[in-house]
Amino acid sequence: MQTAEIRRRFLDFFSTRGHEVVPSAPLLYNDPTLLFVNAGMVPFKPYFTGAEPAPFSRATSVQKCVRTLDIEEVGKTTRHGTFFQMNGNFSFGEYFKAEAIKYAWDLVTTSQEAGGLGFDPDKVWVTVLHSDDEAAALWSNIAGLPDHRIQRRGLLDNYWHMGIPGPGGPCSEIYIDRGAEYGPDGGPIVDEDRFLEIWNLVFMQEELSAVRAKDDFDVVRPLPRPNIDTGMGLERVAYLLQGVDNLYEIDEVYPVIERAAELAGKRYGADHGDDVRLRVVADHVRSALMLIGDGVTPGNEARGYVLRRLLRRVVRSMRLLGMDAPSFGELFPVSRDAMKGSYPEVATDFARISDIAYAEEEAFRGTLTQGTHLFDLAVSKARSESASTLSGDRAFQLHDTYGFPIELTLEMAGEQGLEVDEAGFRTLMTEQRDRAKADARSKKGSGVNTEVYTRLRAEGETPFTGFETLTQESAVR
Ligand code: ATP
Ligand code: MG
Ligand code: MG
Ligand code: MG
Repeated sequence: MQTAEIRRRFLDFFSTRGHEVVPSAPLLYNDPTLLFVNAGMVPFKPYFTGAEPAPFSRATSVQKCVRTLDIEEVGKTTRHGTFFQMNGNFSFGEYFKAEAIKYAWDLVTTSQEAGGLGFDPDKVWVTVLHSDDEAAALWSNIAGLPDHRIQRRGLLDNYWHMGIPGPGGPCSEIYIDRGAEYGPDGGPIVDEDRFLEIWNLVFMQEELSAVRAKDDFDVVRPLPRPNIDTGMGLERVAYLLQGVDNLYEIDEVYPVIERAAELAGKRYGADHGDDVRLRVVADHVRSALMLIGDGVTPGNEARGYVLRRLLRRVVRSMRLLGMDAPSFGELFPVSRDAMKGSYPEVATDFARISDIAYAEEEAFRGTLTQGTHLFDLAVSKARSESASTLSGDRAFQLHDTYGFPIELTLEMAGEQGLEVDEAGFRTLMTEQRDRAKADARSKKGSGVNTEVYTRLRAEGETPFTGFETLTQESAVR
Protein backbone atom coordinates (compact mmCIF):
# COMPACT_ATOMS: atom_id res chain seq x y z
CA MET A 1 0.00 0.00 0.00
CA GLN A 2 1.39 3.38 -1.03
CA THR A 3 2.21 5.89 1.71
CA ALA A 4 -0.31 8.35 0.26
CA GLU A 5 -3.04 5.71 0.47
CA ILE A 6 -2.29 4.99 4.15
CA ARG A 7 -2.49 8.69 4.94
CA ARG A 8 -5.82 8.92 3.08
CA ARG A 9 -7.25 5.93 4.93
CA PHE A 10 -6.21 7.32 8.28
CA LEU A 11 -7.85 10.70 7.66
CA ASP A 12 -10.99 9.07 6.20
CA PHE A 13 -11.30 6.72 9.14
CA PHE A 14 -11.31 9.55 11.66
CA SER A 15 -13.24 12.08 9.61
CA THR A 16 -16.12 9.61 9.22
CA ARG A 17 -16.00 9.35 13.01
CA GLY A 18 -16.59 13.03 13.58
CA HIS A 19 -13.01 14.36 13.54
CA GLU A 20 -12.18 17.67 11.88
CA VAL A 21 -9.43 17.15 9.29
CA VAL A 22 -6.73 19.74 10.07
CA PRO A 23 -3.93 20.34 7.55
CA SER A 24 -0.32 19.92 8.68
CA ALA A 25 1.25 22.98 10.26
CA PRO A 26 4.61 24.02 8.75
CA LEU A 27 7.75 22.50 10.27
CA LEU A 28 8.69 25.97 11.48
CA TYR A 29 6.03 26.65 14.01
CA ASN A 30 5.56 29.48 16.37
CA ASP A 31 6.70 27.59 19.46
CA PRO A 32 9.79 28.94 21.21
CA THR A 33 10.40 25.64 23.01
CA LEU A 34 11.01 23.73 19.78
CA LEU A 35 13.40 23.89 16.83
CA PHE A 36 10.85 22.18 14.60
CA VAL A 37 7.47 20.58 15.00
CA ASN A 38 8.30 17.12 16.33
CA ALA A 39 4.86 15.63 17.00
CA GLY A 40 1.31 15.85 15.75
CA MET A 41 0.05 17.49 18.93
CA VAL A 42 2.28 20.58 18.72
CA PRO A 43 -0.21 22.80 16.85
CA PHE A 44 -2.92 21.76 19.31
CA LYS A 45 -0.93 22.54 22.48
CA PRO A 46 -2.98 25.63 23.43
CA TYR A 47 -6.16 23.52 23.43
CA PHE A 48 -4.57 20.90 25.67
CA THR A 49 -3.20 23.41 28.16
CA GLY A 50 -6.46 25.35 28.14
CA ALA A 51 -4.76 28.55 26.93
CA GLU A 52 -7.28 28.69 24.08
CA PRO A 53 -10.68 27.05 23.63
CA ALA A 54 -10.59 24.26 21.03
CA PRO A 55 -12.63 25.19 17.93
CA PHE A 56 -13.59 21.51 17.53
CA SER A 57 -13.86 18.70 20.05
CA ARG A 58 -12.17 16.08 17.81
CA ALA A 59 -9.48 16.51 15.18
CA THR A 60 -7.28 14.42 12.91
CA SER A 61 -4.13 15.36 11.00
CA VAL A 62 -1.02 14.11 9.24
CA GLN A 63 1.66 16.37 10.65
CA LYS A 64 5.11 16.92 9.13
CA CYS A 65 7.75 16.33 11.82
CA VAL A 66 11.50 16.70 12.15
CA ARG A 67 13.37 15.10 15.05
CA THR A 68 17.01 16.09 15.09
CA LEU A 69 17.53 13.91 18.16
CA ASP A 70 17.17 10.92 15.87
CA ILE A 71 19.85 12.02 13.40
CA GLU A 72 22.44 9.50 14.61
CA GLU A 73 19.92 6.68 14.38
CA VAL A 74 19.20 7.21 10.71
CA GLY A 75 20.10 4.25 8.55
CA LYS A 76 21.28 2.23 11.53
CA THR A 77 17.91 1.37 13.01
CA THR A 78 15.08 0.39 10.67
CA ARG A 79 12.70 3.01 11.95
CA HIS A 80 14.08 6.53 12.44
CA GLY A 81 13.78 9.29 9.89
CA THR A 82 14.87 12.87 10.58
CA PHE A 83 11.74 13.90 8.67
CA PHE A 84 8.61 11.83 9.07
CA GLN A 85 4.85 12.22 9.13
CA MET A 86 2.78 11.62 12.21
CA ASN A 87 -0.85 10.62 11.79
CA GLY A 88 -2.94 11.64 14.76
CA ASN A 89 -6.39 11.71 16.24
CA PHE A 90 -7.18 14.11 19.05
CA SER A 91 -9.99 14.58 21.50
CA PHE A 92 -10.30 17.82 23.42
CA GLY A 93 -12.29 16.82 26.46
CA GLU A 94 -14.64 14.52 24.59
CA TYR A 95 -13.76 10.84 24.31
CA PHE A 96 -11.13 9.04 26.35
CA LYS A 97 -9.29 5.74 26.79
CA ALA A 98 -11.99 3.30 25.72
CA GLU A 99 -12.80 5.06 22.45
CA ALA A 100 -9.14 5.79 21.64
CA ILE A 101 -8.23 2.12 22.08
CA LYS A 102 -11.26 0.94 20.12
CA TYR A 103 -10.54 3.29 17.21
CA ALA A 104 -6.89 2.27 17.07
CA TRP A 105 -7.67 -1.42 17.25
CA ASP A 106 -10.32 -1.16 14.52
CA LEU A 107 -8.15 0.82 12.11
CA VAL A 108 -5.09 -1.40 12.62
CA THR A 109 -6.87 -4.74 12.30
CA THR A 110 -9.81 -4.12 9.94
CA SER A 111 -9.08 -5.78 6.61
CA GLN A 112 -7.76 -3.68 3.76
CA GLU A 113 -10.78 -4.63 1.66
CA ALA A 114 -12.99 -3.08 4.33
CA GLY A 115 -10.91 0.12 4.43
CA GLY A 116 -8.56 -0.67 7.34
CA LEU A 117 -4.82 -1.32 7.49
CA GLY A 118 -5.26 -5.08 7.67
CA PHE A 119 -2.64 -6.07 10.28
CA ASP A 120 -2.96 -9.58 11.67
CA PRO A 121 -4.54 -9.20 15.15
CA ASP A 122 -2.25 -11.95 16.45
CA LYS A 123 0.81 -9.81 15.66
CA VAL A 124 -0.28 -6.85 17.77
CA TRP A 125 1.40 -6.18 21.15
CA VAL A 126 0.88 -3.18 23.38
CA THR A 127 2.53 -1.49 26.34
CA VAL A 128 0.80 0.39 29.16
CA LEU A 129 2.03 2.31 32.20
CA HIS A 130 2.70 -0.10 35.09
CA SER A 131 -0.12 1.37 37.18
CA ASP A 132 -2.64 1.81 34.37
CA ASP A 133 -4.93 -1.14 35.10
CA GLU A 134 -7.73 0.62 33.27
CA ALA A 135 -5.87 0.65 29.92
CA ALA A 136 -4.73 -2.95 30.41
CA ALA A 137 -8.31 -4.05 31.04
CA LEU A 138 -9.53 -2.18 27.97
CA TRP A 139 -6.94 -3.87 25.73
CA SER A 140 -8.03 -7.17 27.11
CA ASN A 141 -11.77 -6.51 26.72
CA ILE A 142 -11.85 -4.57 23.47
CA ALA A 143 -9.09 -6.32 21.56
CA GLY A 144 -9.03 -9.64 23.39
CA LEU A 145 -5.26 -9.38 23.82
CA PRO A 146 -3.77 -12.05 26.09
CA ASP A 147 -1.95 -10.76 29.18
CA HIS A 148 1.55 -11.45 27.87
CA ARG A 149 0.90 -9.15 24.89
CA ILE A 150 -0.02 -6.27 27.24
CA GLN A 151 3.35 -5.28 28.67
CA ARG A 152 3.75 -2.88 31.59
CA ARG A 153 6.45 -0.25 31.68
CA GLY A 154 7.62 2.59 33.92
CA LEU A 155 7.19 6.35 33.82
CA LEU A 156 10.24 6.92 31.62
CA ASP A 157 8.72 4.96 28.76
CA ASN A 158 5.00 5.24 29.24
CA TYR A 159 4.20 8.60 30.73
CA TRP A 160 3.90 11.80 28.75
CA HIS A 161 4.09 15.45 29.75
CA MET A 162 5.48 18.62 28.24
CA GLY A 163 8.24 19.10 30.78
CA ILE A 164 6.45 22.05 32.38
CA PRO A 165 3.54 22.41 34.76
CA GLY A 166 0.52 21.44 32.69
CA PRO A 167 -1.31 18.38 31.47
CA GLY A 168 0.20 14.88 31.49
CA GLY A 169 -0.81 11.27 31.56
CA PRO A 170 0.03 7.66 30.86
CA CYS A 171 0.43 6.39 27.32
CA SER A 172 -0.05 3.09 25.59
CA GLU A 173 2.00 2.07 22.58
CA ILE A 174 1.09 -0.33 19.81
CA TYR A 175 3.72 -2.63 18.33
CA ILE A 176 3.67 -5.05 15.41
CA ASP A 177 5.59 -8.31 15.64
CA ARG A 178 7.65 -8.60 12.45
CA GLY A 179 8.44 -12.26 13.05
CA ALA A 180 11.07 -14.55 14.54
CA GLU A 181 13.64 -13.80 11.84
CA TYR A 182 14.01 -10.25 13.23
CA GLY A 183 14.84 -11.01 16.84
CA PRO A 184 14.03 -12.83 20.05
CA ASP A 185 10.50 -13.48 21.24
CA GLY A 186 9.09 -11.82 24.35
CA GLY A 187 7.64 -8.55 23.12
CA PRO A 188 8.76 -4.94 22.76
CA ILE A 189 10.39 -4.81 26.18
CA VAL A 190 12.82 -7.46 24.97
CA ASP A 191 13.38 -6.36 21.38
CA GLU A 192 12.29 -3.17 19.65
CA ASP A 193 13.64 -4.20 16.28
CA ARG A 194 11.47 -7.21 15.92
CA PHE A 195 8.53 -5.48 17.61
CA LEU A 196 8.08 -2.23 15.74
CA GLU A 197 6.38 0.67 17.53
CA ILE A 198 3.78 2.14 15.21
CA TRP A 199 1.39 4.14 17.36
CA ASN A 200 1.43 5.95 20.67
CA LEU A 201 -1.85 6.75 22.44
CA VAL A 202 -1.53 9.41 25.13
CA PHE A 203 -4.20 9.62 27.80
CA MET A 204 -3.90 13.17 29.15
CA GLN A 205 -5.69 12.81 32.44
CA GLU A 206 -4.05 14.92 35.12
CA GLU A 207 -2.56 18.27 35.90
CA LEU A 208 1.09 18.34 36.93
CA SER A 209 3.15 20.82 38.88
CA ALA A 210 6.80 20.91 39.93
CA VAL A 211 8.08 18.92 36.97
CA ARG A 212 11.65 18.03 37.96
CA ALA A 213 12.42 15.33 35.42
CA LYS A 214 10.79 13.07 32.89
CA ASP A 215 9.84 10.66 35.68
CA ASP A 216 9.75 13.05 38.63
CA PHE A 217 6.80 15.43 39.05
CA ASP A 218 3.83 16.15 41.29
CA VAL A 219 0.28 15.40 40.23
CA VAL A 220 -2.00 18.23 41.38
CA ARG A 221 -5.39 16.85 40.42
CA PRO A 222 -7.22 14.93 37.72
CA LEU A 223 -8.20 17.02 34.69
CA PRO A 224 -11.94 17.69 34.76
CA ARG A 225 -12.14 16.77 31.07
CA PRO A 226 -9.30 14.50 29.99
CA ASN A 227 -7.86 14.62 26.45
CA ILE A 228 -6.60 12.18 23.85
CA ASP A 229 -3.46 12.76 21.77
CA THR A 230 -2.19 10.02 19.50
CA GLY A 231 0.69 9.69 17.04
CA MET A 232 1.14 6.99 14.45
CA GLY A 233 4.30 6.87 12.34
CA LEU A 234 3.10 6.97 8.73
CA GLU A 235 6.43 5.77 7.34
CA ARG A 236 6.59 2.91 9.82
CA VAL A 237 3.19 1.63 8.80
CA ALA A 238 4.20 2.07 5.16
CA TYR A 239 7.35 0.04 5.63
CA LEU A 240 5.37 -2.83 7.12
CA LEU A 241 2.60 -2.70 4.54
CA GLN A 242 5.02 -2.40 1.63
CA GLY A 243 6.81 -5.54 2.76
CA VAL A 244 10.23 -3.87 2.92
CA ASP A 245 12.84 -4.08 5.66
CA ASN A 246 13.00 -0.51 6.86
CA LEU A 247 11.66 3.00 6.61
CA TYR A 248 14.20 4.06 3.96
CA GLU A 249 12.88 1.55 1.46
CA ILE A 250 9.34 2.91 1.19
CA ASP A 251 7.96 4.56 -1.95
CA GLU A 252 8.62 8.11 -0.68
CA VAL A 253 12.29 7.53 0.15
CA TYR A 254 13.71 4.60 -1.79
CA PRO A 255 13.94 6.25 -5.23
CA VAL A 256 16.73 8.47 -3.86
CA ILE A 257 18.64 5.42 -2.59
CA GLU A 258 18.35 3.93 -6.05
CA ARG A 259 19.60 7.05 -7.78
CA ALA A 260 22.43 7.59 -5.30
CA ALA A 261 23.58 3.99 -5.68
CA GLU A 262 23.54 4.35 -9.43
CA LEU A 263 25.59 7.56 -9.27
CA ALA A 264 28.13 6.02 -6.94
CA GLY A 265 28.29 2.75 -8.85
CA LYS A 266 27.16 0.75 -5.83
CA ARG A 267 24.64 -2.00 -5.44
CA TYR A 268 22.27 -1.39 -2.51
CA GLY A 269 22.26 -4.48 -0.29
CA ALA A 270 25.82 -5.52 -1.07
CA ASP A 271 27.61 -3.88 1.86
CA HIS A 272 26.25 -2.84 5.23
CA GLY A 273 28.34 0.33 5.57
CA ASP A 274 27.39 1.53 2.12
CA ASP A 275 23.73 0.73 2.75
CA VAL A 276 23.73 2.91 5.87
CA ARG A 277 25.29 5.78 3.89
CA LEU A 278 22.73 5.42 1.11
CA ARG A 279 19.92 5.53 3.67
CA VAL A 280 21.43 8.62 5.29
CA VAL A 281 21.60 10.27 1.86
CA ALA A 282 17.97 9.47 1.02
CA ASP A 283 16.67 10.46 4.44
CA HIS A 284 18.60 13.72 4.66
CA VAL A 285 17.79 14.80 1.10
CA ARG A 286 14.12 14.38 1.85
CA SER A 287 14.36 16.24 5.18
CA ALA A 288 16.29 19.08 3.56
CA LEU A 289 13.74 19.31 0.75
CA MET A 290 10.90 19.61 3.27
CA LEU A 291 12.77 22.01 5.58
CA ILE A 292 13.80 24.39 2.81
CA GLY A 293 10.28 24.10 1.44
CA ASP A 294 9.01 25.40 4.79
CA GLY A 295 11.38 28.34 4.79
CA VAL A 296 14.56 27.16 6.54
CA THR A 297 17.87 28.25 5.04
CA PRO A 298 21.33 26.92 5.90
CA GLY A 299 23.05 28.95 8.60
CA ASN A 300 25.17 28.76 11.70
CA GLU A 301 22.51 29.08 14.34
CA ALA A 302 19.88 26.66 15.57
CA ARG A 303 17.51 25.75 12.74
CA GLY A 304 19.74 26.77 9.88
CA TYR A 305 22.55 24.79 11.42
CA VAL A 306 20.47 21.61 11.53
CA LEU A 307 19.69 22.01 7.84
CA ARG A 308 23.33 22.74 7.07
CA ARG A 309 24.38 19.66 8.98
CA LEU A 310 21.91 17.48 7.05
CA LEU A 311 23.08 18.82 3.69
CA ARG A 312 26.73 18.43 4.60
CA ARG A 313 26.21 14.87 5.74
CA VAL A 314 24.76 14.12 2.31
CA VAL A 315 27.81 15.59 0.57
CA ARG A 316 30.15 13.64 2.76
CA SER A 317 28.20 10.39 2.54
CA MET A 318 28.19 10.59 -1.25
CA ARG A 319 31.92 11.14 -1.19
CA LEU A 320 32.44 8.16 1.09
CA LEU A 321 30.37 6.14 -1.36
CA GLY A 322 32.89 7.08 -4.01
CA MET A 323 30.96 9.81 -5.82
CA ASP A 324 33.19 12.86 -6.11
CA ALA A 325 31.14 14.93 -8.54
CA PRO A 326 28.22 17.10 -7.35
CA SER A 327 25.12 14.99 -6.80
CA PHE A 328 22.36 17.26 -5.44
CA GLY A 329 21.21 18.10 -8.97
CA GLU A 330 20.45 14.41 -9.46
CA LEU A 331 19.10 13.58 -6.01
CA PHE A 332 16.78 16.48 -5.17
CA PRO A 333 14.55 16.12 -8.25
CA VAL A 334 14.08 12.44 -7.41
CA SER A 335 13.02 13.29 -3.86
CA ARG A 336 10.73 16.04 -5.17
CA ASP A 337 8.98 13.57 -7.45
CA ALA A 338 8.53 11.08 -4.63
CA MET A 339 7.02 13.73 -2.31
CA LYS A 340 5.01 15.99 -4.59
CA GLY A 341 1.92 13.75 -4.53
CA SER A 342 1.32 14.65 -0.89
CA TYR A 343 3.12 18.01 -0.92
CA PRO A 344 2.61 19.71 -4.31
CA GLU A 345 4.45 22.80 -3.04
CA VAL A 346 7.82 21.02 -3.23
CA ALA A 347 7.31 20.88 -7.00
CA THR A 348 5.89 24.36 -7.54
CA ASP A 349 8.59 25.90 -5.33
CA PHE A 350 11.39 23.66 -6.53
CA ALA A 351 13.45 26.34 -8.26
CA ARG A 352 13.89 28.21 -4.98
CA ILE A 353 14.39 25.07 -2.89
CA SER A 354 16.99 23.59 -5.22
CA ASP A 355 18.90 26.88 -5.58
CA ILE A 356 19.42 26.94 -1.83
CA ALA A 357 20.43 23.28 -1.65
CA TYR A 358 22.76 23.41 -4.63
CA ALA A 359 24.52 26.53 -3.37
CA GLU A 360 25.22 24.81 -0.07
CA GLU A 361 26.59 21.77 -1.85
CA GLU A 362 28.90 23.85 -3.97
CA ALA A 363 30.18 25.81 -1.00
CA PHE A 364 30.80 22.76 1.10
CA ARG A 365 32.43 20.63 -1.59
CA GLY A 366 35.22 23.16 -1.96
CA THR A 367 36.00 23.38 1.71
CA LEU A 368 35.51 19.67 2.30
CA THR A 369 38.45 18.80 0.09
CA GLN A 370 40.76 21.25 1.83
CA GLY A 371 39.40 20.47 5.26
CA THR A 372 39.78 16.74 4.73
CA HIS A 373 43.38 17.32 3.77
CA LEU A 374 44.00 19.24 6.98
CA PHE A 375 42.11 16.60 8.95
CA ASP A 376 44.24 13.81 7.46
CA LEU A 377 47.41 15.67 8.39
CA ALA A 378 46.14 16.09 11.93
CA VAL A 379 45.35 12.39 12.16
CA SER A 380 48.81 11.39 10.96
CA LYS A 381 50.37 13.75 13.43
CA ALA A 382 48.29 12.36 16.28
CA ARG A 383 49.23 8.83 15.23
CA SER A 384 52.93 9.61 15.06
CA GLU A 385 52.73 11.01 18.58
CA SER A 386 50.68 8.00 19.72
CA ALA A 387 47.97 10.44 20.80
CA SER A 388 44.40 9.25 20.90
CA THR A 389 42.81 12.71 20.79
CA LEU A 390 42.52 15.48 18.23
CA SER A 391 43.02 18.87 19.83
CA GLY A 392 40.23 21.39 20.37
CA ASP A 393 42.33 23.83 18.30
CA ARG A 394 42.21 21.57 15.30
CA ALA A 395 38.47 20.96 15.60
CA PHE A 396 37.95 24.71 15.91
CA GLN A 397 40.05 25.40 12.83
CA LEU A 398 38.08 22.83 10.83
CA HIS A 399 34.89 24.51 11.97
CA ASP A 400 35.97 28.09 11.57
CA THR A 401 37.79 27.84 8.26
CA TYR A 402 36.31 24.84 6.53
CA GLY A 403 32.80 24.92 7.92
CA PHE A 404 33.07 21.44 9.41
CA PRO A 405 30.26 21.03 11.90
CA ILE A 406 31.78 19.62 15.10
CA GLU A 407 29.62 16.54 14.60
CA LEU A 408 31.38 15.91 11.30
CA THR A 409 34.81 16.15 12.93
CA LEU A 410 33.61 13.80 15.68
CA GLU A 411 32.28 11.38 13.11
CA MET A 412 35.45 11.43 11.01
CA ALA A 413 37.68 11.11 14.07
CA GLY A 414 35.56 8.21 15.30
CA GLU A 415 36.12 6.43 12.01
CA GLN A 416 39.86 6.75 12.65
CA GLY A 417 39.54 5.49 16.21
CA LEU A 418 40.33 8.93 17.66
CA GLU A 419 38.61 11.13 20.20
CA VAL A 420 38.21 14.88 19.95
CA ASP A 421 38.82 17.39 22.73
CA GLU A 422 35.28 18.67 22.52
CA ALA A 423 35.52 20.75 25.70
CA GLY A 424 38.53 22.57 24.23
CA PHE A 425 36.58 23.15 21.04
CA ARG A 426 33.61 24.59 22.94
CA THR A 427 35.88 26.94 24.91
CA LEU A 428 37.30 28.34 21.67
CA MET A 429 33.81 28.72 20.24
CA THR A 430 32.68 30.67 23.30
CA GLU A 431 35.75 32.90 23.14
CA GLN A 432 35.03 33.63 19.50
CA ARG A 433 31.42 34.46 20.23
CA ASP A 434 32.43 36.78 23.07
CA ARG A 435 34.93 38.55 20.81
CA ALA A 436 32.27 39.03 18.16
CA LYS A 437 29.88 40.47 20.73
CA ALA A 438 32.51 42.85 22.08
CA ASP A 439 33.29 43.92 18.51
CA ALA A 440 29.66 44.61 17.79
CA ARG A 441 29.37 46.66 20.97
CA SER A 442 32.40 48.76 20.22
CA LYS A 443 31.14 49.49 16.71
CA LYS A 444 27.73 50.56 17.87
CA GLY A 445 27.26 54.30 17.89
CA SER A 446 30.80 54.96 16.67
CA GLY A 447 29.63 57.46 14.11
CA VAL A 448 30.20 55.23 11.10
CA ASN A 449 28.58 56.35 7.87
CA THR A 450 25.87 53.71 7.44
CA GLU A 451 24.64 54.97 4.12
CA VAL A 452 26.38 52.19 2.23
CA TYR A 453 24.68 49.54 4.38
CA THR A 454 21.31 51.07 3.83
CA ARG A 455 21.95 50.94 0.11
CA LEU A 456 23.08 47.30 0.29
CA ARG A 457 20.01 46.36 2.22
CA ALA A 458 17.80 47.99 -0.36
CA GLU A 459 19.45 45.83 -3.00
CA GLY A 460 18.24 42.68 -1.28
CA GLU A 461 19.79 39.79 0.58
CA THR A 462 23.56 39.51 0.89
CA PRO A 463 24.57 35.88 1.02
CA PHE A 464 27.33 34.91 3.44
CA THR A 465 30.24 33.63 1.38
CA GLY A 466 32.78 33.16 4.15
CA PHE A 467 32.75 29.42 3.81
CA GLU A 468 33.87 29.63 0.20
CA THR A 469 36.19 32.56 0.46
CA LEU A 470 38.05 32.26 3.76
CA THR A 471 41.55 31.07 3.07
CA GLN A 472 43.79 28.72 4.92
CA GLU A 473 45.98 31.66 5.91
CA SER A 474 43.25 33.37 7.82
CA ALA A 475 42.85 30.20 9.85
CA VAL A 476 46.52 29.96 10.74
CA ARG A 477 46.57 33.55 11.90
P1 ATP B 1 10.98 5.24 19.10
O1 ATP B 1 10.91 4.63 20.49
O2 ATP B 1 10.89 4.21 18.04
O3 ATP B 1 12.14 6.19 18.94
P2 ATP B 1 9.18 7.22 20.04
O4 ATP B 1 8.62 6.49 21.22
O5 ATP B 1 10.27 8.18 20.26
O6 ATP B 1 9.66 6.13 18.91
P3 ATP B 1 6.78 8.79 19.87
O7 ATP B 1 7.34 10.02 20.47
O8 ATP B 1 5.91 7.92 20.69
O9 ATP B 1 7.99 7.92 19.23
O10 ATP B 1 6.04 9.23 18.51
C1 ATP B 1 4.83 8.65 18.06
C2 ATP B 1 5.04 7.78 16.82
O11 ATP B 1 5.77 8.48 15.80
C3 ATP B 1 5.87 6.54 17.09
O12 ATP B 1 5.06 5.51 17.57
C4 ATP B 1 6.43 6.23 15.72
O13 ATP B 1 5.51 5.46 14.97
C5 ATP B 1 6.59 7.59 15.07
N1 ATP B 1 7.99 8.06 15.12
C6 ATP B 1 8.66 8.58 16.17
N2 ATP B 1 9.91 8.95 15.84
C7 ATP B 1 10.05 8.66 14.53
C8 ATP B 1 11.11 8.82 13.59
N3 ATP B 1 12.28 9.37 13.94
N4 ATP B 1 10.90 8.41 12.31
C9 ATP B 1 9.71 7.87 11.94
N5 ATP B 1 8.67 7.69 12.77
C10 ATP B 1 8.82 8.09 14.06
MG1 MG C 1 12.28 8.09 19.77
MG1 MG D 1 9.28 4.50 21.87
MG1 MG E 1 6.58 6.19 21.62
